[in-house]
Amino acid sequence: MSTPHGNKLIERVVGESTKHRLFNDKDILRVEVSNDKADDIENIAYGILSPLEGFMDEEDLLHVIRYGRLSNGLAWTIPIVLDVKHEDAIRMNDAREVILYNGNTIALMHIDGYYKYNKLDIASSVYQTRDPAHPGVAKTLAMNDTLVAGKVSLVQGNTNTNALSRYRLTPRQCRSIFKERGWKSIVGFQTRNIPHLAHEMLQKSVLNFFDALFINPLIGRKKAGDFKDEVILEAYEVLIENYYPKDRVLFATLHTEMHYAGPKEAIHHAIMRKNLGCTHFIVGRDHAGVGNYYKPFAAQEIFKEYPDLGIEPVFFPAFFYCKRCMGVVSERMCPHDTSYRLELSGTKLRGMIRDNERPSELLMRPEVFDVIMRYKEPFV
Ligand SMILES: [Zn+2]
Repeated sequence: MSTPHGNKLIERVVGESTKHRLFNDKDILRVEVSNDKADDIENIAYGILSPLEGFMDEEDLLHVIRYGRLSNGLAWTIPIVLDVKHEDAIRMNDAREVILYNGNTIALMHIDGYYKYNKLDIASSVYQTRDPAHPGVAKTLAMNDTLVAGKVSLVQGNTNTNALSRYRLTPRQCRSIFKERGWKSIVGFQTRNIPHLAHEMLQKSVLNFFDALFINPLIGRKKAGDFKDEVILEAYEVLIENYYPKDRVLFATLHTEMHYAGPKEAIHHAIMRKNLGCTHFIVGRDHAGVGNYYKPFAAQEIFKEYPDLGIEPVFFPAFFYCKRCMGVVSERMCPHDTSYRLELSGTKLRGMIRDNERPSELLMRPEVFDVIMRYKEPFV
């Protein structure tokens, strides 16, 4: 199993006495946070974002933007920051601690300070574009102008209160399952998509070389046109039930938004899986990309800049069905002309769903397509 990023698993969940004090303290300020931030808070509290203990201060943010590292030199590519409305910043000004509030999720934040930042610098560094049509850039540009830094401690999370959380596991839970099953080499697979046969074969191929496969889809905010979280969960349920060796596979969800930051996000995805206990992480074609913003294998290239990451990337080319190979293969395995390939693009699949036309079993398992068709609107 891997050691956590920064060598120590962060766990910041308040005890009963603090909980009691907070529920009875009528004067403590409450600041409303979004669902995305509530996920960040829970991920900090359970160590998925180790070594972070809270929302970044200015020094860490500037280091992440300039060097793709925290101020202590540790690899880190995605800003984890809390922006607050101007009026909230004024309201919070003298407070040393506030409650971050979001329906079910409440955390205590110990305020370290406030700062202004440059949104276009984040766009250029993290997303490698300033194009407002990029969903990550658009979200950055829409942020409030003030960031607040400080440690957070979870009071009450969403886990177990939300149906989508039925497969949510903390790093401590994951690591204990890995240990119990005696797995030494565990390969993480990131996804935000419905599993095609090509994905299944790619995932299963690692079982020839490693102890276990950890399938870990992202649950959280996605762009319009992506599949809904519920559909992805149910699709994997039927797929694993019918086609996977259950003693070699663990399925759990990771609750965080997609940034579509391509290479920078691939590093971030790897760090979170390292904290969950994975020793290896699959990076495919156009990992975490969107549109044509990133070169197809840019997300693999960037790992050369992070030899100290502490989790090994496993690079894969694109997989497809080849009629002459008579199976799902990759471009590294197949010598045949592209005209023999069967591929299911997102656009093509959307059309088939609309027309209630079943894709070939060489492209998608019928059980997976049945799950999709049970939904009137399977897309975000
Ligand atoms: Zn072939």
